[in-house]
Amino acid sequence: MECVSYEVFARKYRPQTFDDLVGQAHVSRTLKNAVAQNRLAHAYLFVGPRGIGKTSTARILAKSLNCAKGPTITPCGKCDNCREITGGNSLDVIEIDGASNRGIDDVRELRDNVRYAPAKGRYKIYIIDEVHMLTKEAFNALLKTLEEPPPHVKFIFATTEPDKVLPTILSRCQRFDLHRIPANLIAQHLQFIAGKEKITLEPAAAHAIARGAEGGLRDAESMLDQLVAFCGEKISENDVLNVFGFTSEQTVVDLMGHILRAETPEAIDLLHQQSESGKDMMRLMSDLIAYLRDLLVFKAKPDALKEDVDAEVQKSLAAHAELIATDRLLELIDQFGAAEGRMKWAPNKKLHFEVAIIKAIQSLGQATLDEVIEKLGELRDGKIVPQKESVPVAAGVSPASPSTAAPKAFGAATKAPRVQEQATALDPEKIWQRVLARIPAKGLLRTLSESVRPIGIDGRNFLLGHSPDDRSEIEVLASVNNRRQLEALLKEASGCDCSVKFVAKDGIPSRAGADAAKPAESFKDNPLIQEAIELFNAQIKS
Ligand SMILES: [Zn+2]
Repeated sequence: MECVSYEVFARKYRPQTFDDLVGQAHVSRTLKNAVAQNRLAHAYLFVGPRGIGKTSTARILAKSLNCAKGPTITPCGKCDNCREITGGNSLDVIEIDGASNRGIDDVRELRDNVRYAPAKGRYKIYIIDEVHMLTKEAFNALLKTLEEPPPHVKFIFATTEPDKVLPTILSRCQRFDLHRIPANLIAQHLQFIAGKEKITLEPAAAHAIARGAEGGLRDAESMLDQLVAFCGEKISENDVLNVFGFTSEQTVVDLMGHILRAETPEAIDLLHQQSESGKDMMRLMSDLIAYLRDLLVFKAKPDALKEDVDAEVQKSLAAHAELIATDRLLELIDQFGAAEGRMKWAPNKKLHFEVAIIKAIQSLGQATLDEVIEKLGELRDGKIVPQKESVPVAAGVSPASPSTAAPKAFGAATKAPRVQEQATALDPEKIWQRVLARIPAKGLLRTLSESVRPIGIDGRNFLLGHSPDDRSEIEVLASVNNRRQLEALLKEASGCDCSVKFVAKDGIPSRAGADAAKPAESFKDNPLIQEAIELFNAQIKS
């Protein structure tokens, strides 16, 4: 092989025409129209995060304007002007980096030179990157030129922070917002490069890179550069995860599942595994937050993420969306966001991560208080209060007396024998009756526990079925404290160390239905209400 100087992918595959631009069709379409119809502005502003194609778009526009065959929407790439612009040595296209040329002198020089006609091209084009970094004095000097630009001058500004650009400048620019590039498009582009370079890139690997690049094409290309250096011509998903310390998408999904189902030990175990295998904790945290954000978007509009996540993840999103309400999801995002902030400066990031997980699971349990309040609200809002006697009770709240509230099947529960034979110990129905017998008669836990049915034992999981209509009640029952109590009672009743798992199942009568059929008693006697009154030290006004 001959010795050629190595060119990084980002440079080698830098887009050369509007059609090469990845994921910015809305921008290239408008610019192409402007060039084709010769309706050009004096100044353009490209806004967007780093590495998504702002300067590439600026150079393509410059070539379109100055190509010997132009102005054209398809610059030839071969004439002197095109080649010089591509090589960055055109006398007529002056690139200024706002971050390093902050001084007023640079802008003064610019202002003086603006007057001279272009050397070869049609226009003198100033591309100012990170324009928001210019000093105030430099901005003001620039403004003078912008107010009365000579006809042969075009300005193209790029910025990651448009809020910091003076309004007087903004108002003189035609603004384009470039977007983060959807992961699927980045993955596609990586496969295109891999094809040209004769690299075998697993689809899952391309997707892992795309995800890690967070919408930035340049970052994705640099990552591919590194991977080729490390792994040669065959790149698997594992290579990507190992080289960059990323966690696989499936692990993020699993971790979130444990959190949503309040499975603290499993969640912490998984975190430890990741930490021990050298995964980047910050990265995992940001992946987890990104997943929560996806979940939020999914709840609002299930098909909005089609371009960003693959089919498997879509399925997990659908399942997880069922487990959490939007307001709690927002709380979780806040909590993990705050934890991410704390982790940034902390030497022991894993510790902060653990605390965040435990807090999150706890708060998912605590949020049930809101539901109690909500139910109280429903009662106060007149579903029961105005009609004093003999009316059906509002949905989700059952009458007080356990003897009437208890479904028939559990009528004998209080007298269940305490024998511990192996056979009955494995009969879920019998075990559950013993558990019920141990739960104090007047209490939230009892009321809620009576709405579920034992449906089996699966390994170390004691499965409790509930009506799909009772989801909100089950969320209360599945809170950390309630689960812990139930699991302790299960151990007492059967001797086995089981976790309780709640499963929605058709055919189990819902509490709402059962309650509606029963005569109402004073709603103040309802254990749910009593619990709420105790919790909030409240009084009921009627
Ligand atoms: Zn040309």
